[in-house]
Amino acid sequence: MGSIVLFGPPGAGKGTQAQRIMDQTGLPQVSTGDMLRAAVKSGTPVGKEAKGYMERGELVPDQVILALIRDRIQEPDAANGVMFDGFPRTVPQAVALSEMTDISHVLAIDVPDGRIVERICGRATCGNCGTVYHDTFNPVPASGCPCGDYQEKRRADDNEGTVLNRLEAYHQQTSPLAAWYDERGVFHRVDGDRAIDEITTDLLAVLN
Ligand code: AMP
Repeated sequence: MGSIVLFGPPGAGKGTQAQRIMDQTGLPQVSTGDMLRAAVKSGTPVGKEAKGYMERGELVPDQVILALIRDRIQEPDAANGVMFDGFPRTVPQAVALSEMTDISHVLAIDVPDGRIVERICGRATCGNCGTVYHDTFNPVPASGCPCGDYQEKRRADDNEGTVLNRLEAYHQQTSPLAAWYDERGVFHRVDGDRAIDEITTDLLAVLN
């Protein structure tokens, strides 16, 4: 198996499924969104450049993203492949990635537009362990997060105004990648509008 791409609109459940697939396959998750949020938080030059795009729900320029990825996949834990989450998001990013590493599977999590806003508004993450929750669809257990130290984190861009821009960016710039990867015989689509466990089962079945 080479590297995997988790593909789908914002709020499809890529981050949730990435954690589960990581537990099963040992492939490290490489989320450009997480990397950019860390860069914004620590005020690096990349963070300063990315901040405005992210707040508006627009894509950060390809060259910024590709520089991050180039560095990340040099790290020792990436030697046997990684699981990309939220990358690539444009055809030029996919072309550049194909020159850096082999992609064996693109796992597309399909969720209709009508479901995205409710999924994104209400989303929270445990800042301590990274588990993703949703106020309605996947609430924090009454006994608290299993890590024992729940620290609620909500993303600044998880609001109705930004979501519509993020969806538009997805349809205009990212969705053409489906055909691009399909032509290369690595594209697999899974219905993401179901229970979290059922989706995980289907995604793992594609990989096995
Ligand atoms: P995400 O956490 O994947 O939803 O990404 C959050 C935001 O980071 C996006 O709305 C973009 O502004 C930016 N971003 C993340 N990944 C990429 C990427 N591969 N290409 C361009 N922008 C990205």
